[in-house]
Amino acid sequence: MAIITLPDGAIIEDADGVTAKQIAEKIGPGLAKAALAAKINDQLVDLDIPIKGAAALQIITTKDDLGLDIMRHSCAHIMAEAICSLWPSTKLVYGPIVYEGFYYVIDLDEPIRPTDFDRIEEKMSQIVKADKPFIRKEMSRAEALKKLANDKYKTDNVNRATGDCLSFYSSGDSFEDLCRGPHVPSTGKVGAFKIMSVAGAYWHGDPTQKMLHRVYGCCWRTKKELDDYLTRLEEAKRRDHRVLGRQLDLFSFSDAGPGFAFMHPKGMIIWNSIVEFWRGVHDRYDYEEIKTPIILNKELWHKSGHWDHYKENMYFTRFDDTDYAIKPMNCPGGCLVYKTKKHSYREFPLRVAELGMVHRHEASGVMHGLFRVRQFIQDDAHIFCTPEQIEPEIIGVINLVFEIYKAFGFSDFHVELSTKPENHIGSDEIWEIATNALKVALNHKKIDYEINEGDGAFYGPKIDFHIKDCLNRSWQLGTIQLDFSMPERFELVYTDKDNTEKTPVMIHRAVLGSFERFIGILIEHYAGEMPLWLAPEQVRILTISEKSNDYANAVEKKLKEHKIRCSCDLSDEKIGAKIAVTHAEKLPYMFVVGPKEAQSDSVNVRIRGQQQTKTLKVDEFIELALRKIADKQIDLVL
Ligand SMILES: [Zn+2]
Ligand SMILES: [Zn+2]
Repeated sequence: MAIITLPDGAIIEDADGVTAKQIAEKIGPGLAKAALAAKINDQLVDLDIPIKGAAALQIITTKDDLGLDIMRHSCAHIMAEAICSLWPSTKLVYGPIVYEGFYYVIDLDEPIRPTDFDRIEEKMSQIVKADKPFIRKEMSRAEALKKLANDKYKTDNVNRATGDCLSFYSSGDSFEDLCRGPHVPSTGKVGAFKIMSVAGAYWHGDPTQKMLHRVYGCCWRTKKELDDYLTRLEEAKRRDHRVLGRQLDLFSFSDAGPGFAFMHPKGMIIWNSIVEFWRGVHDRYDYEEIKTPIILNKELWHKSGHWDHYKENMYFTRFDDTDYAIKPMNCPGGCLVYKTKKHSYREFPLRVAELGMVHRHEASGVMHGLFRVRQFIQDDAHIFCTPEQIEPEIIGVINLVFEIYKAFGFSDFHVELSTKPENHIGSDEIWEIATNALKVALNHKKIDYEINEGDGAFYGPKIDFHIKDCLNRSWQLGTIQLDFSMPERFELVYTDKDNTEKTPVMIHRAVLGSFERFIGILIEHYAGEMPLWLAPEQVRILTISEKSNDYANAVEKKLKEHKIRCSCDLSDEKIGAKIAVTHAEKLPYMFVVGPKEAQSDSVNVRIRGQQQTKTLKVDEFIELALRKIADKQIDLVL
């Protein structure tokens, strides 16, 4: 008798050998139709695997992410079948799924070109339309090796696989591939797909081996999902901060320092606007600011634990017969500043911020514009407090974090709390107090959060803040980490009420994380169209003819008196051409001025993203613009 427990706790009894597919049919035709695979006792299997005895069963449908993964994997088989039928000499290597898609590595002497994609897709459509069943066949390792004797790639796959039982999947009777499974029941269950690209790839990444082809595809549940994805890709390409950074002359990279960003004058205006705002907010929240050296000796990094635990990511240097490291984190420097004098509970909480330059070595393959760099400014701070102050301090940090994100137009947040890992230092009691304080603070702020059980750092629990950008991509920016280790390593103390010396609680926190990365995110979020308060140039004054040059210069002078960033275009170009240039530079406002405007002390304003122009007195514009800048308004409408 098969006794099957469903995810909602319901129990279904049936004869031994019943399949997940039959159970799905029993529950309802809708479920049977959507079913792609099953999870039996936490193991992913095909729908037609027989069930015996007591089992926990979950039907995996198109709605589940796992279902989509299985669909993608099945689509990779279909693509392989299509390629093999178009190029019969193809040898298949391996074909895993990847984020939002899949690829298959093939060995084929002639190249596959993007112009071949249509043909492959057409063949794939035929296979999907034929709705051929995926059939699993199992055999022993010895049998499998015998079967694959002439196939060095698949033999290698068998040798890398574990267990004695290996499986093959065929779609209908035409195509077979060594595969662990599971698969969707038949080729017709695969949704909308597209071949995306082809690239050269070495077998197992080994450059001494033959160059193979890696064909990338994507697969979605529906045509609409596929179209949305393709639109999103186009949009991401249009917003690529590396391209916009060059176009708008914001920053660059050089072979002289891979992973080290060069910020240009316009990029620095964005940077400094953020710094100025950041300092203002921190000032209001009673932070002090320090600056600590970037090169400090080996002994210090031994003491902090970085030398032992973070060495692969650090840069080193040596002089005066002493080893030094370039700081990957600001905390040890912060501890040294703390230790320069005696502290009393009366000073607590002590909030010490640092816009600290850190260097962290990243492999050359993972660097990506400003998103992954080897040197960046971290908007760090350390709070030293008593255990009772943890909760109000966390609330304070949360308030500050949200205030800062909102100013940049981010209002979609996601918060995660990571708790005590197996490997940890500090007593269970202090972990309990700290974790509880974090929870109470989040609850107090009525913030929904996800708990990552056991995912905290070994030295303390933490809260991570994620924001969503306009493409619905999630970015982890801020973090609040409690640390029970470093204050002890550095023998930090304070004098408590009872006149005894105690170890302070140390809270590490960052809001934006890396300035470089945050600016990259901002550029992509706004597609280079920066909010007024961040725009490198806020207004450009365009003259219709040289007769208005004096007036344009006067307007510029007036705006500059109010610290509005602007310039004049007095060139001989036609006004249409001047507008086009300014438009391409994504300026928030442009003024078109001629004799009429000069006479009435006004300007004709073109607002970025608006069809309609607006005529305003210069003073009127200044007042409105200053208000928008002060309030960090995203909307440019006057
Ligand atoms: Zn497979
Ligand atoms: Zn720190």
